[in-house]
Amino acid sequence: MITLENALIIMLVLICIVLILIFVTENNKKSNIDKKANIDKEFYSLGTLNQLKVYGKNAKKSIEESIDRLSEIDNKMSVFKDYSEISKINNNAGNQPQIVSEDTYYVIQKAIKYCSLSNGAFDITIRPIVALWGIGKEGARIPAINEIKDTLKIVNYKDIVIDKNNSSIFLKNEKQEIDVGGIAKGYAADEVKNIILKNGIKSALINLGGNIVVIGAKEDGTPWIVGIQDPIKPRGEFALTISVINKSVVTSGNYERFFEKDGRRYHHIINPRDGYPSESNIISATIISDYSIDGDGLSTGVYIMGINKAIKLIEEIKGVDAIFITKNKEVYVTTGIRENVTLTNYEFVYKNGIYEEM
Ligand code: ADP
Ligand code: MG
Repeated sequence: MITLENALIIMLVLICIVLILIFVTENNKKSNIDKKANIDKEFYSLGTLNQLKVYGKNAKKSIEESIDRLSEIDNKMSVFKDYSEISKINNNAGNQPQIVSEDTYYVIQKAIKYCSLSNGAFDITIRPIVALWGIGKEGARIPAINEIKDTLKIVNYKDIVIDKNNSSIFLKNEKQEIDVGGIAKGYAADEVKNIILKNGIKSALINLGGNIVVIGAKEDGTPWIVGIQDPIKPRGEFALTISVINKSVVTSGNYERFFEKDGRRYHHIINPRDGYPSESNIISATIISDYSIDGDGLSTGVYIMGINKAIKLIEEIKGVDAIFITKNKEVYVTTGIRENVTLTNYEFVYKNGIYEEM
């Protein structure tokens, strides 16, 4: 016979079973969502538009952590923020050394390496000249020749004194200023990569204003295909593509930031020899490397050096490759990655071997 007591117990057991079932299915749903958590996020940071494509569990978390880390790096290294460590170094120029964080010290130390490797084509003390031109800002203009000549006198990366013991940076001349805009995005991309890897993610694409780092292969196991902007066409049209797994792909081009006057284009990569936008025969220089800080540090310098010196330098560096597009629409690829490159616009002519001066 069923007593009232028994009936209550049976009801309670039934309720418990239902609750457990609801809990289990809810949880299953959640983990399914986590597994498929592929996120494609665009956001503004480091003065540019960025994109993160992250595949797998923890995608959301790793993107949030990355965005925080990028704003931390920007706050330390932006030349446009008066509280940044770079601004403090500049304000203390000729006066006293500035103690900086490990991040800033590392970036400056690497930058100096690339200043020296490029024989001063890349020179992070270029800031006073970049400021004269105001490229990328509203008051962009062509400075007077005398202004440029005077300002060039204080451009010299050899005047940067670094002291590892107390992590300090000092500029010898009072008017000197550094600008890590030509290398900091590379460092930032490497840092984002570390965050994503720490979250156990095996496949991702990091795009910091054209500085690209791919983690692993695509979700389906095939290599990532990275398009290289056609330097003559509007943004989004490619000259060629490159297939890569686990690499950094960084391009410096004359189309990134510029202004036009009397039919001439004045872009943001300045030749420290004469203080004018670089007029070498290269109009696009792409570096393929393991670390993006190396790619970024090299891409700006080789752009200025011109095709012959650029090819020679990159062929000498182990594990680093390059793609150059010249003014006369020729494409040069270093030996290590020739098989990964596909021309997509046949206006360009693919060349192997050595550039011949015309
Ligand atoms: P982007 O900013 O388009 O990614 P780059 O990595 O080539 O391009 O860096 C260009 C930036 O570097 C400029 O905006 C300027 O701040 C700085 N710069 C310009 N000329 C030089 C130079 N010769 N050496 C070092 N930095 C430079
Ligand atoms: Mg660069």
